[in-house]
Amino acid sequence: PGCIHGIPRAPPDKILGLTEQFNKDKNPKKTNLTVGIYKDNWGQVTTFQSVARAQMILDQSIELNTDLSYLPIKGCPDFQLNVLKFLYRESCPEGAESLDQGRISFVQTLSGTGALAVTSKFLSLFMSRSVWIPKPSWPNHANVFQNNGFDDILYYSYYKNGTLDVDGWLDDLERGAKSRDGPPQCIVLHACCHNPTGIDPSREQWRRILDKIHELNIIPIIDMAYQGLDTGDLYKDAYLLRMSLDKKRYNWNNGLFLCQSFAKNMGLYGERVGSLSVVTPVRHNSKEIKRNVDSQLKKIVRGMYSSPPGYGSRVANVVLSTPHLRDLWHKDVKNVANRLHSVKAKMAERLEWDSLKDQSRQHGMFLYTGLDMRSVETLREKYSIYLVQDGRLSLSGLNDSNVDYVCDALQSVHR
Ligand code: PLP
Repeated sequence: PGCIHGIPRAPPDKILGLTEQFNKDKNPKKTNLTVGIYKDNWGQVTTFQSVARAQMILDQSIELNTDLSYLPIKGCPDFQLNVLKFLYRESCPEGAESLDQGRISFVQTLSGTGALAVTSKFLSLFMSRSVWIPKPSWPNHANVFQNNGFDDILYYSYYKNGTLDVDGWLDDLERGAKSRDGPPQCIVLHACCHNPTGIDPSREQWRRILDKIHELNIIPIIDMAYQGLDTGDLYKDAYLLRMSLDKKRYNWNNGLFLCQSFAKNMGLYGERVGSLSVVTPVRHNSKEIKRNVDSQLKKIVRGMYSSPPGYGSRVANVVLSTPHLRDLWHKDVKNVANRLHSVKAKMAERLEWDSLKDQSRQHGMFLYTGLDMRSVETLREKYSIYLVQDGRLSLSGLNDSNVDYVCDALQSVHR
């Protein structure tokens, strides 16, 4: 604490700061490959067909869309019902039992970031102030946990020479756990399409990782921001949740936290639609634990932003609960994933890069180019092509009209 004159300048956001710079760039060939927003082959951020139709239904319904009053603190009850069904029955039937037993606590959140914020606040108040994050990770992870009471941000090895460093990862957890007593630690796990590397563990590797986390009594926080954008199949992509809720193998004593977002897989970015669900453990007093967790989550939300916004969750709710729109949504997601794959294939044709040779290695919206900071700067300064500083490139910013320009520029800075 001090006076206003002593406030230091915070650094600009590593990703959104670049878009501000991009907007000022006068080069007609400028290309923004920074933010993880899906654009179509014409460079447009289009509304998913399923979402547009849900919006039309809402527009025409006085009953559904004229209520501008507050939502309840934990969100719209219908949204809760449909999201829980989508997550814990359809995507992950292994979760149905927890749902039937009333062991899943739920809050509608301000998208995935809001879910992580509520999670970290809850954990730091009651359970842990120490979290493992992959190195590298989405830069906002550390920021969110720090902002919400975590004083110990630890990084586990993730990436080495273009592949996953699973041994380093397990060693880090093991060593970190041995060197301390006290409250449990938490760990952030990217459910699929790891941001920024696009490299995900195989099923066998996940099994080893989950076994280790379970053995060390670390609290899992699954961050599922890209469900569907890996294989194009929303259900398939929830494999980490399914593996984690295999009750023959794991009983998460301190619960399992799922932070889920509809930003990317429904294209609802700015509407801020997502959820936090906490699968509480099987105990003789499970119901009481769940009710207590519910009550504290509610108190946190009330103090943080009071209640979530309404419109986006109504749209998502119509998509999830109207069978033909739900089918259309699955097709929309498939189309997005197909386009991302075809952009990657086009780049592989043009560039003889190791990172592009085996495309099955890189999952999701991003290509981790491996370019160093100097090359990324050259791309920006000489060609007005904007990548994130760590060399991450957002694939959907590429299309038929700019792919040649971008590939030529990438080749020229590649060493
Ligand atoms: N987690 C990861 C790994 C992400 O990449 C993102 C978005 O870029 C999010 C969470 C949260 O996004 P949102 O708050 O828009 O749902």
